[in-house]
Amino acid sequence: MSTEERLLSGWGRTAATRARVRTPAGAADVAALLRHPGERGVLARGLGRSYGDAAQNAGGLVLDMTAMSRIKAIDRATPSVTAEAGVSLKDLANALLPFGLFLPVTPGTQHVTLGGAIAADVHGKNHHVDGSLCAHVTSLVLQSPAGERLTLDRATTPDEFFATAGGMGLTGIVLEATLTPIRIETAYIAEQVARAPDLDATMEGLASTDASHRYSVAWIDCLARGNRLGRSVLMQGDHAPVEMLSGPARAKPLELPQRLPLAAPPWLPSGLVRRETVAVFNEVYFRRAPVRAERLTPLDRFFYPLDSVAGWNRVYGRRGLVQYQLALPLGSEHAMREVLERLAASPAPATLAVLKRFGPQEGLLSFPLPGWTLAMDLPADAPQLSELLDGLDELTAEAGGRVYLAKDSRLRPELLEAMYPELPRWREVRARLDPAGAMRSDLARRLGLQK
Ligand SMILES: Cc1cc2nc3c(=O)[nH]c(=O)nc-3n(C[C@H](O)[C@H](O)[C@H](O)COP(=O)(O)OP(=O)(O)OC[C@H]3O[C@@H](n4cnc5c(N)ncnc54)[C@H](O)[C@@H]3O)c2cc1C
Repeated sequence: MSTEERLLSGWGRTAATRARVRTPAGAADVAALLRHPGERGVLARGLGRSYGDAAQNAGGLVLDMTAMSRIKAIDRATPSVTAEAGVSLKDLANALLPFGLFLPVTPGTQHVTLGGAIAADVHGKNHHVDGSLCAHVTSLVLQSPAGERLTLDRATTPDEFFATAGGMGLTGIVLEATLTPIRIETAYIAEQVARAPDLDATMEGLASTDASHRYSVAWIDCLARGNRLGRSVLMQGDHAPVEMLSGPARAKPLELPQRLPLAAPPWLPSGLVRRETVAVFNEVYFRRAPVRAERLTPLDRFFYPLDSVAGWNRVYGRRGLVQYQLALPLGSEHAMREVLERLAASPAPATLAVLKRFGPQEGLLSFPLPGWTLAMDLPADAPQLSELLDGLDELTAEAGGRVYLAKDSRLRPELLEAMYPELPRWREVRARLDPAGAMRSDLARRLGLQK
C-alpha cells in the first residue's frame, strides 16, 4: 500500500485540501490503518461525489475505499445482495440487472460508492414511498476506530446502526453491507411528463400522485417570478412491466440500450453560467417539455441524466459550484414559496433545481424529514451568493427544516443543532464508537459536528 499526498475536493471543486491517501485492499488493511490514525485523524472516501468537504481530511489520513469493490453474493430468491463498501452503485446495478433486480434507492448519479451512499443515507426520487437507502440495508460491517469489527443492524444494535446510517463517515469505516434490492421486469421506466404552470400546481401535482407513482420529481424554473413562480416540469414514473415493451427491447427486457458517453471540455471559462444564460435555458427547457406525455425511458436516462456527460461540473469554471439542498417539513409550504421568491429575485442564478417529496425517516443525522426538498446548483462565484444562502439557511431552520450535509460547504455551525435535533444523541453514540476521536473530516471540523 503506497501513501500519496493528494489535493482533495468535493464534486463542487471548492476548498480543496491536502491529505495523505492510502488505498486499502481489504478489511485487514483498514484495521491496520485505523490503528495509527495520526494527529489529524482518519476518514474514508468513496468516489468524491459529495459536493462539499465531507470526504476531505486536511493534513490527515484519507482511505480511498474504491479498491474494496467485490460483490460477494447475490441471492435472487430472498432477494438480497452483499458487497464491499467501495463498489460503485453503477457496478452494483449492472450486476443486479440480469437477475431482474434493482437498487431499492438510488441518488441522481450512479458514480457513488455503497459506503458513501450509506454514510450520507442517500435518498432518491422514491423517498415518499420507500424512504432512504439505509431503510433497505439489512446489516453492515463497521470497522470501528477503537479496533472492533462490528456487524450492525437495526434490531440488535439500533444505536450504532442509526448513527452510522447518515453519519457522514464519522463512526468508523463501513467495510461491507447487505441490502434488499427490488424486483423489476425490465430495464425501463414508464414515465409521465407534464408541465405545471406555477408552485401550487407543482406541489399539488407531486402530492396528489404520492400513492400512484413510485418515482416523482419536479424540475423547477427557479428564475420564474410572479404568477409563474415555481413553474415546473413534473416527471413521474414506475418500473415498466414486460407487456409495455415491443421490438428488440421486448426480446431483451433487462438490457439497457447503449449510448455514447459525452465529455465536458477540460477547461471552460468561469462565468459561463450567468443569470441570462440560465434564463434562456430554462425557457427552452420548459417550452420543449410536452404539456402532458407518457414515454418509456431506459433506467439510466431516467435516474442519472447528468451521468451521460462526464465531468459536467467543469461547466461552472475554475471557481466551481455550490450545491444547495434544503428540506422543509409538511405544513411549511409558505416557506418554500418564500425560498423560491428569494431565488427568483437574487442575482445568483440557481440552475438544475429539483423539488421532491420526502416521507418518514430513520437515522440520527440523516437528512430527509417528512415534507419537501429543493436542491439546486449555483456557481460558486455568483454575486451575493453568501447573503442569499445564509438567509435561506435561517429561513429553513426557523421553519423546522435542514440543509443536506453531503452537499454542504458553507453552513454556519450555530444553525446545526436546530436543524438536526438528534445531534446530541448522535454525538453520544459516536463518542462510544470512537472514544479517542480518530474519525475526522473537514466538514466535521467546520461545523463542530463532533464537539
Ligand atoms: C450529480 C449528483 C447527484 C446527486 N444526487 C443525489 C440524490 O439524488 N440524493 C442524495 O441523497 N445524494 C445525491 N448526491 C450526493 C451523493 O449521493 C452523496 O454525496 C454520496 O455520499 C457520495 O458517495 P461517494 O462514494 O462519492 O462518497 P464521498 O463523497 O467520497 O464521501 C461522502 C461521505 O461518505 C463517507 N464514506 C465514504 N465511504 C465510506 C465508507 N466505506 N465508510 C464510511 N464512510 C464512508 C465519507 O467519509 C464522506 O463523509 C448526488 C451527487 C451528485 C454529484
